[in-house]
Amino acid sequence: MIVNDAHCHFFSTAFFSALARQKADLAPHRAGVRGGDPAKVRLYGPAVGDPAHVEADLQVRLNDLYRELQWDNPGTPEALADCWVQELDAGGVQRAALIASVPGDEASVAAASARHPTRIVGFFMLDPSAADAPARARHAVSDQGLKGLCLFPAMHLVSLDDERTLRVVEAVASCPGAAVFVHCGVLSVGVRRKLGLPSRFDLRLGDPLAVSRLALAFPHVPFIVPHFGAGLLREALMAAEACVNIHFDTSSSNSWVRYTPGLTLDAVFKAALAVAGPSRLLFGSDSSFFPRGWQRGIYEQQRQIVADTGASPADAALIFGGNFERLFP
Ligand SMILES: [Zn+2]
Repeated sequence: MIVNDAHCHFFSTAFFSALARQKADLAPHRAGVRGGDPAKVRLYGPAVGDPAHVEADLQVRLNDLYRELQWDNPGTPEALADCWVQELDAGGVQRAALIASVPGDEASVAAASARHPTRIVGFFMLDPSAADAPARARHAVSDQGLKGLCLFPAMHLVSLDDERTLRVVEAVASCPGAAVFVHCGVLSVGVRRKLGLPSRFDLRLGDPLAVSRLALAFPHVPFIVPHFGAGLLREALMAAEACVNIHFDTSSSNSWVRYTPGLTLDAVFKAALAVAGPSRLLFGSDSSFFPRGWQRGIYEQQRQIVADTGASPADAALIFGGNFERLFP
């Protein structure tokens, strides 16, 4: 059976640089320096908000960050892409969607998919509130070869009903072959938590029913809701029933099942198969950093669950590879 992974993160140097800048901005002795009080600048050095200063010691900060996380330095996008392909080979995975996981990092994942076009499909996170968001979205899918716009409404504090969201979806919808990924439900970013970075997300904005409204407006665009709606399973199923272009990815440990007492991942798969059917489920692992690499355990667990639901081998083949192939040929 061909295995494709619809949900992995491309944690590039640009991604970690963004985190390092955010962490620097939080350093306690820097607080209050931003006003540029000369005495404080003498005492503490230039304000961290000063880009020249931050860039000057970014390399030091990055190395500190990798040490703190105990994660590998990803190096160039090309080196990270090679690392991913080795990892996919080792896991027996044919292709994977890799998400540029900070706004503005389209170039990293574009370089990765250009280097391994038969293995890597590039997705990119976009903040619709950025002034250039529609142009960036259009450029990413029509010039940089990326295939998935990733919206995180709870993170970027832009509702799915907002005109700015509509503009970026419109931009992507005009390019054939691109999908829109919308993170709904609970959102926790492990690396932010590990680094003590605040995550002031508005979880109310990640509503699958709002995805259904967009999906109805753009019926030819595939929409992907990860983790079965990450806690909003009922709403995700309702949205999928209303819109044939809404898909789920099965990624991560799906630990959100604990929000519904007694719910198991087996039951989630059964419900999703009953409502959306096997052709709208995309296996995903939510793998992200190295040296951990590709999350084989998630794959093995889900293979077993799908087998236990009584799904036919043909249906399992769709979930673990065929649907991805159809959406991203
Ligand atoms: Zn993820």
